[in-house]
Amino acid sequence: MLGANIILLSLAALVAADCNLPEELKNEIASYATTIDLIITAATNGSFKGVTYNELAKFVDRFGGRKVGSKSLEDSIDYMLNLSLAYDLQNVHGEEVEIPVWERGSESAVLIEPRTKDIRMLGLIYSVATPVEGILAEVLVVKSFDELKERAAEANGKIVVFNEDFISYGETGQYRGYGAIEAAKVGAVATLIKSVSPFSPANPHTGILAYDDSITPIPAACIASNDANMLQRMQERGDTIKILLKMEAKMLPNQISRNAVAELKGNINPEKVVIVSGHIDSVDVGDGAMDDGGGVFISWAAAALLNSLGLKPRRTIRAIYWTAEEAGGVGLTAYQQVHEDEIENFNFVMDTDVGTFTPLGIEYEAGENGGCILQEIMKLLTSINATQARSVEMGLWPETPTASLYNANEQYFWYHHSPQDTMDIEDTNALDKCTAVWSSVAYILADLSVDFPKD
Ligand SMILES: [Zn+2]
Repeated sequence: MLGANIILLSLAALVAADCNLPEELKNEIASYATTIDLIITAATNGSFKGVTYNELAKFVDRFGGRKVGSKSLEDSIDYMLNLSLAYDLQNVHGEEVEIPVWERGSESAVLIEPRTKDIRMLGLIYSVATPVEGILAEVLVVKSFDELKERAAEANGKIVVFNEDFISYGETGQYRGYGAIEAAKVGAVATLIKSVSPFSPANPHTGILAYDDSITPIPAACIASNDANMLQRMQERGDTIKILLKMEAKMLPNQISRNAVAELKGNINPEKVVIVSGHIDSVDVGDGAMDDGGGVFISWAAAALLNSLGLKPRRTIRAIYWTAEEAGGVGLTAYQQVHEDEIENFNFVMDTDVGTFTPLGIEYEAGENGGCILQEIMKLLTSINATQARSVEMGLWPETPTASLYNANEQYFWYHHSPQDTMDIEDTNALDKCTAVWSSVAYILADLSVDFPKD
């Protein structure tokens, strides 16, 4: 999910502005009601009922996880290009991107004192290795960066365990992102971080970390919450705690991957574009069904469904399946650079990476007037109860209005970046509704007589 930024979506909804849209525009949006009903019916009860789930399941069962730098990722990109061709989408092609490749190798963390136990761990993406013989060291458990500062004198030569409470992905993710830097600053030899998840008793969750060029990098892994809490209790009882950490993690030479593109060509202003997108790569554990297989498949389905209904919007709908998101948003960043000259023609970007559970509407970063237009559009989705439009900070496309799916994803971080991210999390009816939302919003945005405001 949303790799480049450690802080993901700030879910703090901003206060909705009073809307004063011209009556003409409101009437124009309302006039799409019949078309939107057609789209919703096709997705939830017609020709596309079950298609998103079935196609996603075929994809996930065939490729499993799609780690950056793996053959399965590249094969899965070819597969999506072929699937897009099979549904008669146009301008189907891959665009090459140079990607960094990290490999975890074998790894383990074993509690040596006060008893022997395997700690459930996963190295963090981009972590450095330990020496071959591992790092055997005493442990200092802290609950926060503040506590680490207070106890800095105790940290030297130790493995620092962060046993932070889960607040939100954005806030708690700081420990995964920056724990290795902060621990190294006070002389720690490695760090273990409680997984960034509200529920991970026996299940570690990985993700990328950052290093600071001015500080020697130390190995870093995340651990299951139960192990972090147990280490905390042992420390509070006065036990001496020792862990042997072994990690083979390493960087391999850069490789070439591809962003995959497929279009439903606009029939009046084909040079103007509404993007629908998700990322096709996944972390190396789990099957990447939720993160972000669902986002890729509702984006594919939006273009395929509209095409199958013969709905040709004014502007082009461009489905993009980003590569190497989990390496730090590499595919998206490369695309923005290569297409810089075209960005003024990007009318709107729909990019979703927050699960495809039952949809509630959309989240957007689109300015005040833009927000009003989106709120008006969402009124047409009453029949599937997905009418909400709420403003959030996304920060991925500074010059272009953006939206993401708003869905009932309270359990997203139970599974995120862990072996639990599998097809069992996905639900066929929820996916149909997500496809209905994604197709409906994309169609109206691509077809409105006026360009979306970029204020
Ligand atoms: Zn993701």
